[in-house]
Amino acid sequence: MKSWSPVDVPTLSLEQRGGPLTVHDTATGSRVRTSPVDGTARLYVCGITPYDATHIGHAATYVTFDLLQRVWRDSGLDVRYVQNVTDVDEPLLERAERDGVDWRELAAGQIALFFADMEALRVIPPDHYVSAVDGIPDDVEAVEKLLADGTAYPVPVPEDEATVEGAGRADYYLDLAQQPTFGTVSGWNRAQMMDVFAERGGDPGRADKRDELDPLLWRAGREGEPHWDGGSLGRGRPGWHIECSTIAQRYLGTGFDVQGGGTDLIFPHHEMSAVQAAALQGGAPFAQAYVHQAMVAFEGEKMSKSKGNLVLVSRLLEQGVDPMAVRLVLLAQHYRTEWEWTPALLAAAEQRLSVWRSAAEACSAGYPTGLGAQTVARMRAALADDLGSPRALAEVDAWARAVLDGEPASPLVPEAVDALLGVRL
Ligand code: ZN
Repeated sequence: MKSWSPVDVPTLSLEQRGGPLTVHDTATGSRVRTSPVDGTARLYVCGITPYDATHIGHAATYVTFDLLQRVWRDSGLDVRYVQNVTDVDEPLLERAERDGVDWRELAAGQIALFFADMEALRVIPPDHYVSAVDGIPDDVEAVEKLLADGTAYPVPVPEDEATVEGAGRADYYLDLAQQPTFGTVSGWNRAQMMDVFAERGGDPGRADKRDELDPLLWRAGREGEPHWDGGSLGRGRPGWHIECSTIAQRYLGTGFDVQGGGTDLIFPHHEMSAVQAAALQGGAPFAQAYVHQAMVAFEGEKMSKSKGNLVLVSRLLEQGVDPMAVRLVLLAQHYRTEWEWTPALLAAAEQRLSVWRSAAEACSAGYPTGLGAQTVARMRAALADDLGSPRALAEVDAWARAVLDGEPASPLVPEAVDALLGVRL
């Protein structure tokens, strides 16, 4: 599927490159140094379910992984970046039904809005933006393989549920009891898992599952629901997690560098994507590190579609807010710290942007690069250290103060603000 428009990322006019990136890995609970092989870093970030517009919480996630790519690029690596779009899933179908619209039209409209938001925020687009629907043939092949291996099993469709022509009378699940790596991404115990499983798309109450937590791999086509060719599985549609297992494997292979997403995806989504991929690959690790963006709150509660307390990027832009100021609000927070959106944060970011722009205007190519080079070195060090964006911003603040106090400066820092932080002055 076509992704959003490319973003120009300048290469800094410095001999020295940035250093290697360390990140906090959820799976080990520790700081790990990313060490991509063959000069290419491989990143997978879970995409949106396109049933509602991009809110600041989503934007925080995509800007965080945009920052991560910029640090990798600055250190001389190429980046291969893949993102999916869950264009068939319960929440999308439910919303389409509620609003009386075709789910395909709803998805297309929301994807277009998401693209516009990402472009405005200058987020680097993925090399492969993959629709879950397009990935269905791979999902079918994967489930067939798991069944042949005896690691997946059928669960009969309840008798009172009508299936479409060509569908089987069974749904298929993964047998977690056979998966020794289950639990290693989240590190959660069973009680923690059971606490959120149902509210995050799981079906612990489904009769005849071997374990309440076993994830759905393939759902036989029910009357009134979309369905696709499922080969020997019969017509139906894939479970949520298998799409990311197969898309990531197809475009990035096994053991790719970073799996990213919001903390609300740690369990079950990232746990299940990883365990399904491991089941398909004889236990090989899905990713080297799992990196998670903390949740963003608004008016005292986690921003979420179900609560309706959303700050939408598109609405801020309609109100005339500079998208670079929105980006600066996000970068002023460390990605692992929960925070709350407030108008004061936006006002502070607008002020900061204005100061930085004034300083950039005072720069000249004929001026010395010493102050700039020192500032860039500090920005790089901050970002390489678990994406320390608040510290990087503070370095630019100090630089801007010096320039506005009359220190002559080259345009190196404005270049770095563009290349490393994605903020165009
Ligand atoms: Zn995913």
